[in-house]
Amino acid sequence: PVRTRFAPSPTGFLHLGGARTALFSWAFARHYGGTFILRVEDTDLERSTPEAVQAILDGMTWLGLTPDEGPFFQMQHMDRYREVVAQMLSAGTAYHCYSSPDEVEAMRERARAAGQKPRYDGTWRPELGKKLPPIPADRKPVVRFKSPQDGATAWVDMVKGPISFDNTELDDLVIARPDGTPTYNFCVVVDDWDMRITHVLRGDDHVNNTPRQITILRALGAPIPEYGHVPMILGPDGEKLSKRHGAVSVMEYDRDGYLPEGMINYLARLGWSHGDDELFTREQLVAWFDPQHLSKSAAQWDPKKLNWVNAHYIKHYDDQMLAKIVAPRVTARGGDPQRTDLVAVVKLLKDRAETLEQLAEAAMLFCGTFTPANDDLRAQHLTEPARQVLGDFAKQAEALAWDRDKIAALIKSLLAAHGLKMPQLAIPLRVAVAGTTQTPAIDAVLEILGKQTVLARIATVV
Ligand code: GLU
Repeated sequence: PVRTRFAPSPTGFLHLGGARTALFSWAFARHYGGTFILRVEDTDLERSTPEAVQAILDGMTWLGLTPDEGPFFQMQHMDRYREVVAQMLSAGTAYHCYSSPDEVEAMRERARAAGQKPRYDGTWRPELGKKLPPIPADRKPVVRFKSPQDGATAWVDMVKGPISFDNTELDDLVIARPDGTPTYNFCVVVDDWDMRITHVLRGDDHVNNTPRQITILRALGAPIPEYGHVPMILGPDGEKLSKRHGAVSVMEYDRDGYLPEGMINYLARLGWSHGDDELFTREQLVAWFDPQHLSKSAAQWDPKKLNWVNAHYIKHYDDQMLAKIVAPRVTARGGDPQRTDLVAVVKLLKDRAETLEQLAEAAMLFCGTFTPANDDLRAQHLTEPARQVLGDFAKQAEALAWDRDKIAALIKSLLAAHGLKMPQLAIPLRVAVAGTTQTPAIDAVLEILGKQTVLARIATVV
């Protein structure tokens, strides 16, 4: 059975790149009816914070990427890591190294001077018939993995295809520090093994770690998962995506009014494709997801396309639900969502909104306090003939059954009676009832504002 994991380091918010790898791992597990595991890699005590853990959990919850197992925390596996270190020491696949940091630095320097890759020179590496130096007093050893020295470590990457590293390139990796704490790659290996991970999808900044992890897994007699390394996300300018390009935290997109559905769709397409499909539901993503169609090249962040995708999801969102999620955003702007039929409002406005924030802003026409038109607008649009037709509109509106069609019919008949074109009534109406010349369809606006409000506002200008 397929088992995948997302393994974030809790050193900040959940960023777009992390969210995308989480999404791919999630979709992969779902596609194969497998298990998606969340493992928090919190062993870097200086950089890990509880706030960051929470931020990652929040981001995943918002996106709907619920793990089937976890969250697990590496700090809770310390005993297990020590146990495996001890096992490797007794099996001879790891050894104590008493070289001091200065000595190791000198070895690396010598290798560099000889034009080689800087490396530990193997002083303490036990070999058949080799005599080791005397153990220095008062020095705590590190534990090093006895890495194979010939041959190559290779795998067929699910994204990048065949990758191979000469084993001579791999140093004898430190797996435990002098105080006994395990190092990064070692913890990943033990957890991937214990969690029976079958497929690892992660950022391609980890490609260099993979041969180290594979050689340790081999030494442990553990199964080797399939690996897929996903290229990074670039900003619109082709540089690695960063804060300079705008929001990189997933939750900022929540704040800015993106729907999780839109975000998931956009992130999935960013580095993965299914023919020409640009829009797909979560269910379709799961049904279609395959690692063969993960892109080998870096994907470029495209805010315009994200907005286009988000607009699609807003447009097709259920009106009741949409009103519910827009209401607090209206309140945050100082509006009162109760002042109007918010469901009717979002229904009218949602076709033009790229974000929930834009929708909330547009809804302020109905939920905010009314600001009458300024003198300039009045002088320009509420001319004598305009006020006359507005007055007629108000008179005939009194007895009108207030719905959009009847309002539209009244407008039409007044235009004919006064010999006017649409804007000659629609614009004065807008200026009178909205204080601006720009609104959605005037008949719909009038209907939602309600007869009383409309007549009261017209009365102040005619
Ligand atoms: N903790 C690593 C990171 O945040 C991921 C490790 C992995 O996926 O193997 O980049």
